[in-house]
Amino acid sequence: MAKKKVTTILDNAVMTDAGLTLNGVVLQQVIDKCEGCERVMDHASGGNYCTSYAQPASKWSHGVCNFATHVRAEKDTGGKVKINPLKASKRAARGR
Ligand code: SF4
Repeated sequence: MAKKKVTTILDNAVMTDAGLTLNGVVLQQVIDKCEGCERVMDHASGGNYCTSYAQPASKWSHGVCNFATHVRAEKDTGGKVKINPLKASKRAARGR
């Protein structure tokens, strides 16, 4: 069975003097934190680029990238667990 060729948005990108460009935006290569993400694609120019975000380094600058497929952003709730108020009132009514 023939393997399907996966087309990505990077197929429309062109190499310019400024770098790999897509619709006027210069794409930056992925960073080490992106390693393992399914959105990393090789480009014919020789670099690895993200298919979802033009500047991967800035995507990681405020914590975990929310597009990442290999890690999950976790919210620090400070030890508090949010309980559905409806369920909490039913539990209280049952005496639990
Ligand atoms: S989605 Fe996020 S983690 Fe994945 S390659 Fe793009 S910038 Fe990196």
